[in-house]
Amino acid sequence: MDTELTRLIQDMPKGENHVHLEGSISPELLLSLGEKNGVTLPFDSVEGANRYIRENTRSLDTFINVFNVVNSVMCGQEDFHQLVVDFAREGARENIVYREAIINFAVHEHRGIDPREIVRGLASGRREALEKYGVDLCFIGELDRSVDRYWAEDFVRRMDQYRKEIPLVAIGWALGLKGKEEDNFRAPEHREAFRLAGELGFYRTAHCGEVQGPESVWEVLENLEPDRIDHGVRGSEDPALVAELARRGTLLAVCPSTNVLIGLYPDFASHPVKYLMDQGVRVSVSTDDPAYILTGLSHELTQVALAHDLSREEVIELVRNSFRHSFAGKHHQEKLEHWLKQN
Ligand SMILES: [Zn+2]
Repeated sequence: MDTELTRLIQDMPKGENHVHLEGSISPELLLSLGEKNGVTLPFDSVEGANRYIRENTRSLDTFINVFNVVNSVMCGQEDFHQLVVDFAREGARENIVYREAIINFAVHEHRGIDPREIVRGLASGRREALEKYGVDLCFIGELDRSVDRYWAEDFVRRMDQYRKEIPLVAIGWALGLKGKEEDNFRAPEHREAFRLAGELGFYRTAHCGEVQGPESVWEVLENLEPDRIDHGVRGSEDPALVAELARRGTLLAVCPSTNVLIGLYPDFASHPVKYLMDQGVRVSVSTDDPAYILTGLSHELTQVALAHDLSREEVIELVRNSFRHSFAGKHHQEKLEHWLKQN
């Protein structure tokens, strides 16, 4: 790949749509919060943390174990503040100017953490992130797909309360606490919760079409009225669905490294990202859980461009989509266009 395209990817202002806050913690912060909060971790160095994560993120089952270990160091307001500030600093290093962070309130509540502490930490962290690093953050409340409809509706109402303090812009449907996506897939069960979310002015997004096939994407489209889809790549297996996604203009926020890591595709070249783009589906690229997957957004974009021989315009389109189809960062597209005129 020519160095010009590598530089373009690194330097251009970028947005990110699909990234989990808990999955973005650096090993350094993981260790320091563990020590501060007296949490015993199964590693005691940055190398050890990376090795532990690398060895245990090969399947969704062991991934959940890593997720629990990592979350155990996040105990109070200050920790969430620090997590958000670090999240912005890491983004700024590769010129990410806007990030939509998915936060799993339920999993922290389940551990006994007061959600008001989390909200206060996110609010103050976000302010510092913007002041210090110029990175604009908003949040997506992650709804556990394994909960019943009443819990789900209550969750949406509680998220509405938090919006007084933080820009919580969307409800995102994602992996359940109980484990695998396919074990607890209940889009019809959450139809009413998502209708309520729309009524309250939330955007809606949903993880689907990764572990499960195209039928999971159809089910989400039919029940949850999503403004976009997280992953959705297995939608590529059904031509009628590809055409429908293109017709609706629904963004797929794809995370190729995650898909490769869990064995969905053997490598980037086998990933359907280019096929989807060619069929007129809107796609942006994200890192999902960068700390677990040991990747960064520039790396993801570079690997996609390299594996599929993307043109400069195609790379720019992926980045443009991260703003154009964002929930609260459409105005940041101007930064990209301005930068492109000068470069
Ligand atoms: Zn995700």
